[in-house]
Amino acid sequence: MILHGYEPVIGLEVHAQLTTQSKLFCGCSTTFGARANDQTCPVCLGMPGALPVLNRQAIECAIKLALAVHNDPVGQSVFARKNYFYPDLPKGYQISQYEQPIVGPGRILIETQSGDTKTIRINRAHLEEDAGQSSHEGHPQSSKKSYVNLNRGGIPLLEIVTEPDLHSPEEAYAYLTELKAILQYLGICDGNMEEGSLRCDANVSVRPVGQEKLGTRTELKNLNSFNNVRRAIQHEIDRQVTLCSQGEAVAQCTLLWDVDTQTTRVMRTKEDSHDYRYFPDPDLLPIEVTRAQVEAAAATMPELPRQKYERFIDTFQLSREDAARLTVDKELSAYYEEVVAGCQEPKTAANWILAELLRDLKQVEGGLAACPIQPRHLAGLIQLIATDVISGKIAKEVFADMFQTGDDPELIVERKGLKQITDTSALEAIVKQIIESNPDPVNEYRNGKTKVFGFFVGQAMKATKGQGNPALLNKLLKQHLENQS
Ligand code: ADP
Ligand code: MG
Ligand code: ZN
Repeated sequence: MILHGYEPVIGLEVHAQLTTQSKLFCGCSTTFGARANDQTCPVCLGMPGALPVLNRQAIECAIKLALAVHNDPVGQSVFARKNYFYPDLPKGYQISQYEQPIVGPGRILIETQSGDTKTIRINRAHLEEDAGQSSHEGHPQSSKKSYVNLNRGGIPLLEIVTEPDLHSPEEAYAYLTELKAILQYLGICDGNMEEGSLRCDANVSVRPVGQEKLGTRTELKNLNSFNNVRRAIQHEIDRQVTLCSQGEAVAQCTLLWDVDTQTTRVMRTKEDSHDYRYFPDPDLLPIEVTRAQVEAAAATMPELPRQKYERFIDTFQLSREDAARLTVDKELSAYYEEVVAGCQEPKTAANWILAELLRDLKQVEGGLAACPIQPRHLAGLIQLIATDVISGKIAKEVFADMFQTGDDPELIVERKGLKQITDTSALEAIVKQIIESNPDPVNEYRNGKTKVFGFFVGQAMKATKGQGNPALLNKLLKQHLENQS
């Protein structure tokens, strides 16, 4: 993407909340929605003398991510204290990683809008604990006090940092989509941006085309949906390009995205940017990720979205777009594969799912998990079309019924009497009748105006309530129209 001679440069920092049962350094539960401060203990409350004990499951999550981004995590990794004061951080420091993160350099492939594959380099991914949450509204004394909920404090996060390899809001969007899919396939994060289990900060700069040196960057925060990420980055690129083309400098700062006004405001400038005084946490030993641990994790790795995407294109001959849409969500891809297994019609199955099913699922709370149509029933419907029991048009009606009732399509066809009429003598009687009662169009046809054929097809479909076998009706109509007797 090039604008007025400037090229945007973007690097993303994503915080993924891990789906471990307990917190990173204590046994407190991570379940969402508990009463405020119920899920706390001396460790995550930061009581003096309480000692952290590392959660092994969080390490396993990090190892899986390393494998998914083609990084080898074998070796030492160190926890560090990131010191700052905030009411939702009672210890006065966050345990994070600085110099030796658990996941080093790697890469993620994305598809660009022009249909090319692009490599986005991962700089690192480190483990850290989440902070608590301050809340300023909805409490008995909100006008006088701020309230703090520490249930979230201590929940494990993986912060995944890219190199500045992204060059448009769309690429940032594509990267986030792919990263979310990877985390979801690995089962280590639910990827819900609205609920805060996936959080994204975007670093943005622009530079004259051809210049190697990076421009001064700003950091965008508070981007709580994929669309906000895209819009905020676009807004910031426009702002910076305007400044630069007027000969003004971009000031390094942190900006907050305001959803209501669709603009940004300054949160802090470089002068008051924090010095966190990182140092290795003396309460925690360095961790040693072993080859055996990595091999054990490798043995349990699922097929990843990218591999599935390529397999769908190769084995099912799907278009890149359809394959991408079907594999972005793990559950959706599993649903699709079950339908294909039941009908052996991969392209038709993709069409029904992407056009009809996803459209109707928008009205259903709970999405695919609450889908009223079972995969084997959708497969059954596709087979009914393939074997000429019903036409494609009738199938839409059956589909709507399935979506309401969850019934087997065969039962619906039976119950509503929707079976296609393939009985030649029954159809022939209807065709003869139509020809007898429409002498004028018949003459037109016989005098060479073959365009009126459509009229006869329409009449025949009407007479059979859409249930006449189209191919057979066409054949019979042609026969009788061309037969002058
Ligand atoms: P910090 O730790 O201060 O946030 P990092 O150097 O770790 O800084 O970079 C954070 C993110 O910002 C990374 O994703 C990186 O790619 C990106 N980044 C760094 N410099 C620039 C720049 N000039 N323009 C755009 N993105 C940048
Ligand atoms: Mg940063
Ligand atoms: Zn705790």
